[in-house]
Amino acid sequence: MATLTETLPTETKASSIKYVYFFGGGKAEGHGKMKDDLGGKGAGLAEMTNAGLPVPPGFTIQTEACREYMRHGKASADVNRQMDGALERLEKLQGQRLGKGENPLLVSVRSGAKFSMPGMMDTILNLGLNDESVEALAKRGNNARFAYDSYRRLIQMFGSVVLEIPKHAFDEVFDAKKKQKKAKLDTDLDAKALKEVIVEYKKVVKKHAKQDFPQDAHDQLVMAREAVFRSWNNDRAKHYRRISNISDDLGTAVNVQAMVFGNLGETSGTGVGFTRNPATGANEFYGEFLMNAQGEDVVAGIRTPVPILELEKVMPKVYNQLREITTRLEKHYRDMQDFEFTIQEGRLYMLQTRNGKRTGRAAVRVAIQMVEEGLITKEEAIFRVEPNQLYDFLVPRLDEKNAKVEVLTKGLPASPGAAVGQIVFTADEAVKKAGHGASKHPVILVRAETTPEDIHGMEVAAGILTSRGGMTSHAAVVTRGMGKCCVVGAGDLGVDEKKREVRVKGQVFKEGDWISLDGTSGRVIKGKLNTLPPSPDDPEMLTFMAWAEPFRKLRVRANADIPRDAIQARAFGAEGIGLCRTEHMFFAEDRIPHMRAMIMAREEADRRTALKKLLPMQRADFVGIFKAMDGFPVTIRTLDPPLHEFLPRREDLLVEIAVLEATKPKSPKLKELHKVLTRVEELHEFNPMLGHRGCRLGITYPEITEMQARAIFEAAVAVAKDGIKVLPEVMIPLTGTLKEMANQAAIVRRVAEEVFTEKKQRVEYMVGTMIELPRAALVADEIAKEAEFFSFGTNDLTQTTFGFSRDDINKFLPAYLEEGILKQDPFAVLDREGVGQLVRMATERGRKTRPNLKVGICGEHGGEPSSVEFCHMTGLNYVSCSPYRVLTARLAAAQAAASDQLKVEGGRTK
Ligand code: PEP
Ligand code: MG
Repeated sequence: MATLTETLPTETKASSIKYVYFFGGGKAEGHGKMKDDLGGKGAGLAEMTNAGLPVPPGFTIQTEACREYMRHGKASADVNRQMDGALERLEKLQGQRLGKGENPLLVSVRSGAKFSMPGMMDTILNLGLNDESVEALAKRGNNARFAYDSYRRLIQMFGSVVLEIPKHAFDEVFDAKKKQKKAKLDTDLDAKALKEVIVEYKKVVKKHAKQDFPQDAHDQLVMAREAVFRSWNNDRAKHYRRISNISDDLGTAVNVQAMVFGNLGETSGTGVGFTRNPATGANEFYGEFLMNAQGEDVVAGIRTPVPILELEKVMPKVYNQLREITTRLEKHYRDMQDFEFTIQEGRLYMLQTRNGKRTGRAAVRVAIQMVEEGLITKEEAIFRVEPNQLYDFLVPRLDEKNAKVEVLTKGLPASPGAAVGQIVFTADEAVKKAGHGASKHPVILVRAETTPEDIHGMEVAAGILTSRGGMTSHAAVVTRGMGKCCVVGAGDLGVDEKKREVRVKGQVFKEGDWISLDGTSGRVIKGKLNTLPPSPDDPEMLTFMAWAEPFRKLRVRANADIPRDAIQARAFGAEGIGLCRTEHMFFAEDRIPHMRAMIMAREEADRRTALKKLLPMQRADFVGIFKAMDGFPVTIRTLDPPLHEFLPRREDLLVEIAVLEATKPKSPKLKELHKVLTRVEELHEFNPMLGHRGCRLGITYPEITEMQARAIFEAAVAVAKDGIKVLPEVMIPLTGTLKEMANQAAIVRRVAEEVFTEKKQRVEYMVGTMIELPRAALVADEIAKEAEFFSFGTNDLTQTTFGFSRDDINKFLPAYLEEGILKQDPFAVLDREGVGQLVRMATERGRKTRPNLKVGICGEHGGEPSSVEFCHMTGLNYVSCSPYRVLTARLAAAQAAASDQLKVEGGRTK
């Protein structure tokens, strides 16, 4: 990014950039629309100040200063000059001086980026305290305990944020002091004890940072400002930006604001709240507060906060003022607000307001209610729900009405939904306890963390709970794929797998005890709650979708391989099947022997015999799918994976053979196993993903394509005879040349005619191809001579374009993301620049040959909102995704089209 500051050394030349924006005394230099510069928090503070709300005065150092700091490693002279000017103005307005005099000014220093990144960056409170000003503060407030407590908090926060001293170094000192003084709560330590803590804390600083805690308040400010700039690039922040699609280039603003204290006694307090319930969306005032406390006490969970409605009893005037202000804020921003406030000696101060984060259900309800209240239009409402949030409607949730809910702890909400079951500690135990069929029993697998060895237990468990791991840990990733509820990283849990017990909150839970998990909020709840079933037909969600859907241009289909999934997909609104992977039908217990017989056969005749046995089974599946789709198109792909996938693994065979040779050397099975081993070895490929798979199978074994085409057309004719409309689309995988396509299309068309003649009935059908290879994209105009439709297999197309193995990318992907070499996993979010270019080019070239060419996508990207947006922009006809993502894809497609038509910002890349 070429900027002014790169070409003009800012140290020598005064620039015209305004880096620092003041707010206070009823007026702000910035305003609410300046989020790019002031960040969300800074813009909100400016807006609230201008609206005449009680906001402690201060100033915002804008994001450009952060970007410069990241480039040059230091702030420019201009930034320093402007900051000092703003500080002077603040001191004048307050009649105080930073960290000086009888009534010292203290400030908070907080981050605030354009997009809210809750808790990801750093904050420092009570800045300005030093050995002198702490005494002044003690005298002024006539409260020595409060003053020393504020000072020790500053040293602790400053130490960990600015000087990067591990937190536990301070915690150890504090806990030791509590032990020594036999104090149960932090608040039990008196002024004298806290003074001793301060002495110890300073030693910690000296030891770890090799410098003294800075006594100069101005030095503190500069150092804190820079630490906040640096916190933009801490691991948490980087990770959050990646999963939220926020650009790394934005930088954060820094807000410096006069401190107000919620811990000045019984008429002071602090709290947070929402103008509506963020979990349900109900229009009720929601939040919590604590009297005589500072913000971090609420967050840290040291004391249990009180529901906000109680504030009406404690301080009715303040309560009413807070309600009046927050109602005004919601009307002003036309969205649910998440606010922070502090009461200092009976006076209310607003510290922050922003649009509140909410669950999917709440997002839908709030959007609908706000339309009904006349606050927003239906068109605006469409953008108030993130497409991924609709998943909430498709998973079960806890029924908390009339239930005793004792939250034991909170972990990361890794995979949404709810699960209630009895605790087990090992995967084997899970399998044993969970049972089968009618005697199925819900279990929750509780582990420190899961590994691939636990997969069998994870499969049968109702839910998974781990004490370690993050949002991309094994447990998180696997359960999301399974659509199973999971809470990870619940650090308060002491899981002892050997003793088969878990300790939390001073309680011990053993194998067999009941717990309930909320995978949407991360809560772990004691006992057996009831669950509410998923509600894909929730009336509010349907109303909401009915507003969005008319805009949608893209059709949304589902990837479904068996009739059950097809029925599910229809229930979620799929308008056809975009990919039926026929090989999945062969893995069933009753089919795999025939499949293996087919692969073992050396002669075509033997292969045909085996295929004949598979034909009726495959035909029955297609009948089920055609019926479920009832007139919607069904794309069926001919066999794709390399054949060895259907045979036992070589290593397993070797073991089995060795055992038999040692125990029953005469067993006839041994001979059979040797034959299988020989075949497995023949089929072995160094690089099976680029090997004998896709259309290459159908070309070398045309009888496979024949059998599959026959099953498709016989099923289609049978269903059509029942009066149900069928639209089969036969899809050839992994083509790269026109001749490959022509070869397979000829077989399919020949068999179709044979079946139509035999059965004396025709059905409409198409033959098309997947575009999964760069070459196919390059010669798409040629391939379209034979292919009547294209479907982008972006899993393979990503693999072949990048040359990244889709199975092995995790070896280096974390490093690539960490280094910023890749912004996202290209197998999750379509790479617009590279793979996307091929998609665009193939679509254009294909349509040059065949103007009405139907084009879709059926890789994993088909259900990911940003990729769906790209497909809309590229003029595809449809996207196809797993049934559980159909709703998400429908909304993403509707939003993409609505943002075109309404000319509003709906772009998914921030
Ligand atoms: C693809 O490659 O995108 C695709 C859908 O096929 P598969 O995942 O079965 O290889
Ligand atoms: Mg593929």
